[in-house]
Amino acid sequence: MAEGAGLRLTIDLAALAANWRTLAGLVAPAECAAVVKADAYGIGIEQAIPALWNAGCRTFFVALPEEGRRVRAAAPQGNVYVLSAYLPGAAHLCRQHGLRPVLNSLADVEFWAAQGGGAPSALHVDTGMNRLGLSLHDSIELARRPKLLAAAAPALLMSHLACTEESANPLNRAQLALLSEIAAELPKMTLSLANSAGIFLERAFACDLARPGIALYGGMRQGAASALQVAVTLHARVIQVRDAAAGETVGYGAAERLKQDSRLATLSAGYADGYLRQAGSSYKREGAKAWIRGHAVPVVGRVSMDLTVIDVTGIPGVVAGDWAELFGPNLSVEAVAAASGTISYELLAGLSRRAERIYVGAPRT
Ligand SMILES: *Cc1c(COP(=O)(O)O)cnc(C)c1O
Repeated sequence: MAEGAGLRLTIDLAALAANWRTLAGLVAPAECAAVVKADAYGIGIEQAIPALWNAGCRTFFVALPEEGRRVRAAAPQGNVYVLSAYLPGAAHLCRQHGLRPVLNSLADVEFWAAQGGGAPSALHVDTGMNRLGLSLHDSIELARRPKLLAAAAPALLMSHLACTEESANPLNRAQLALLSEIAAELPKMTLSLANSAGIFLERAFACDLARPGIALYGGMRQGAASALQVAVTLHARVIQVRDAAAGETVGYGAAERLKQDSRLATLSAGYADGYLRQAGSSYKREGAKAWIRGHAVPVVGRVSMDLTVIDVTGIPGVVAGDWAELFGPNLSVEAVAAASGTISYELLAGLSRRAERIYVGAPRT
């Protein structure tokens, strides 16, 4: 496969483990969990879990029961929370695999309790997202129903921050205050609020248990998070180098017209690989950059399903068979996402199933 591969995804499990340790150090004495939904943000649940477990992580969050089942298989002793299950469909799977459902409404609490509770669960209260979680009104009603609470046996009380990327946004503090007020009405539980960016707000946001996702995978490394390491690198193979004259166009829609005689390299990567179509350029807007032979170079024209063209004019020695970095140590996934009109989350979560995957830095077993 390696000889024929057009795309290579290198996943550094030692960097993943180091990032978890860094975050765990920041939130201590609170516990640090790992959010591993969407196949651990694209990098692979089966590989990520042993690395995280070895680093000391014991609590994991996924979106769906099927993801939870895979985490359970990789971490038989871990605490596995399922964030967004449709509970009537998922409750039996949670029981079967020892997963902890996150109860997102009063109806969820009643359903879980009516099914006999038994296994631990989490209670999610909404403090400003209006997405999932009990409203303030329902939280107070639940506080008045101790039997129901006892039957549902929540071990964790959580909420989710809406605006952590903006550290000064007043909604952050308002959400923390509201969660604290709701917690005061309920029996004592482990309290959880912060996602990755929440960890970098004031210490109080870490509560008892932090839930980082993106920071573990190296998708958030700016400013205060600069100690975090690159965990995912995407390389595409140059499969052809060609010369084109000034005035000629490149790719579908003839969206980009060359201003000078140019040398172009065609890469074996496209939107079918999760390299976003919006990474392309046109005469109206710049696109993303790639990195080849020590230089950052622009993507030219539209990204196609399997191919992307970069401009290597003036860069000596580029030949078919070279590998160009699409993101990694030289081009941050955040910058490439921004140039593609999105965020690192979307780029990582959509990572290619077609790429050759190379895992480095796995813990010794
Ligand atoms: C995805 C998710 C997280 C992790 O968020 P990051 O910004 O990736 O750290 C935490 N909590 C909940 C409820 C989530 O859905």
